[in-house]
Amino acid sequence: AWIDQVIKQEEIDKYLINGKDFIDEGKILKNLEEGHNPDPVKIREILQKSLAIERLDPEETAALIHVKDPDLWEEMYATGLEVKRKVYDNRIVFFAPLYCSNLCVNSCVYCGFRTDNTREKRRILNMDEVQDETRAVVSEGHKRMIVVFGEHPLSDADYMADAIKNIYKVKVPARSGYGEIRRVNVNAAPMSIGDLKKLWEAGIGTYQVFQETYHKETYARVHPAGLKANYRWRLYALHRAMDAGIDDVAAGALFGLYDWKFEVMGLLYHAMDLEQQFGIGPHTISFPRMTPASGSWLTTHSPWKVDDDTFKKLVTILRLSVPYTGLIITARERAELRREVIKVGCTQTDASTKIGIGGYTEALKVLNNVQQGDQDEDAQQFILGDTRRLDDVVRELAEMDMITSFCTAGYRCGRTGDKIMGLLKSCTEGKFCKLNAVLTFKEYLEDYASPETKAVGEKLLEKELAEIRSIPFFKRGKLLENFENYYQRISTGERDVYI
Ligand code: SF4
Repeated sequence: AWIDQVIKQEEIDKYLINGKDFIDEGKILKNLEEGHNPDPVKIREILQKSLAIERLDPEETAALIHVKDPDLWEEMYATGLEVKRKVYDNRIVFFAPLYCSNLCVNSCVYCGFRTDNTREKRRILNMDEVQDETRAVVSEGHKRMIVVFGEHPLSDADYMADAIKNIYKVKVPARSGYGEIRRVNVNAAPMSIGDLKKLWEAGIGTYQVFQETYHKETYARVHPAGLKANYRWRLYALHRAMDAGIDDVAAGALFGLYDWKFEVMGLLYHAMDLEQQFGIGPHTISFPRMTPASGSWLTTHSPWKVDDDTFKKLVTILRLSVPYTGLIITARERAELRREVIKVGCTQTDASTKIGIGGYTEALKVLNNVQQGDQDEDAQQFILGDTRRLDDVVRELAEMDMITSFCTAGYRCGRTGDKIMGLLKSCTEGKFCKLNAVLTFKEYLEDYASPETKAVGEKLLEKELAEIRSIPFFKRGKLLENFENYYQRISTGERDVYI
């Protein structure tokens, strides 16, 4: 009965074109078939198109998928990084996930939260606990959070809206002033337009729904029951969000359920349909790989598991196919691999991550954090590959000449949706973001960094400042003058100033 109340057929049908989905399996298989044995000259032309920050057509992505020549792959990796630098410069945006509830009515066979997993320790945070978790996350230095919920009547849109509002209320004393979460993104089940409007009113940033697999037969097999068994309700979740006013939406697929080539094509078609129906594609794309989950046989035995080398390739293909879309690599992956794929074009990542319900508060209770790396398979959705603290990852990136950004200014200045996409496509957003990345990085170093990280970070800041002062774009109007002024004010203790 609850399923019938939640799923609104008319909010699926309105997005079909001639009664059909944008995922046409026959078309995808044909693209992939015709992409075999690509001509290297053609591949180099495609790379030029990516460098011009144009989205690729499916035939072009299919050709990239079939490249076998290792030298050509090296060119593709290098172009991926170049595209990223053009659009996003050398910055990486950080966020922290906050799991609020593991109650779930669904039966996804790859997930520890599935309803029939009797080993799972179930829990839903009350609002005091949401605030406690937020305090722990803010104390690490984070400014962005993504809240995650299982699908259950107890964690409905009203609960989510409450959680968002409570997170924004939290202020935690820092070395100078206080820290806070300035942007709350949501990863949750597909909702009706009415429910999505509640999240919009509560101040949601990005709304993230992963299709998991675009392959219908596989989808049906791994989602045998519950609301999630409805493929189309999920397929149009981001469309409904756009209609609800949430113009930053995030797509993703869980790699390892089906053939990675099909999923990459599915993500591209998803981006294209959003562009066609709303004028803008997804704000970000995620590509988690299936990792072991409590009591899940599939997570360790799937024939479609993606090895490290293939993973790096698929991330590169996505970077080249949707040059202006953010790409998220998470702490599911081991540190070495994260380093590798950040180099081919990822733009966002997490650190100090805890995915057990109440996990941040628990970790704080452990003296000296000696259990920082411990994970409880029966209390979390999957097992993390990288449990390092934010400070360690920030330092590592600074040593790689990459600047950590905690910037949330774009959203608060109205640079979202089609406005931010326009700026990204023209490579202008990267310039604003460079200034704000420097300002927020300075804040982080002042308020949270260890002495080692501060030393490495200050060196990087000197380089960044020299670069900013030499770029003609920044000398326009009062941009540079304002920036220098804000930088100075942060050095003397003022917080949250941005361009
Ligand atoms: Fe529930 Fe999501 Fe896990 Fe499926 S993947 S069982 S919907 S929490």
